[in-house]
Amino acid sequence: MIVLERTAYLTMLAHCQSLYPQEACGFLAGANGRLSAVYLVENVLHSPVRFEMHPQQQLEAMLDSEEKGLPDLVIYHSHPQGPPRPSPTDLRLAYYPDWPQLIVSLESRHAPVVRAFSITATAVSERKWYLE
Ligand SMILES: [Zn+2]
Repeated sequence: MIVLERTAYLTMLAHCQSLYPQEACGFLAGANGRLSAVYLVENVLHSPVRFEMHPQQQLEAMLDSEEKGLPDLVIYHSHPQGPPRPSPTDLRLAYYPDWPQLIVSLESRHAPVVRAFSITATAVSERKWYLE
């Protein structure tokens, strides 16, 4: 189960809105499935349809969350003009098979829709998530 603390959720949404119409990306981190920390990572592609996390920032975020005792990681990225489901590129690349991914759709810009998935090279499945 994925539980997002409200402050982390709102920070993630604000990050996605601030980079519109480019895709935003980052991590949420927490313990016992409860995600409380947000790490904003630069999308080095600065693209409206693709993302790739800045490798150094990604590494630093992972080390920092580990240091703080927040081992549960979830990756997020936005679909500024696309639906809240993995794009063909997300499926093809399956960059992060070890972690759930949140997709923030800003298709209706002022009514973001967030869905969670596990995406591996061979399968995609939707995950349940809750806001607290
Ligand atoms: Zn995507």
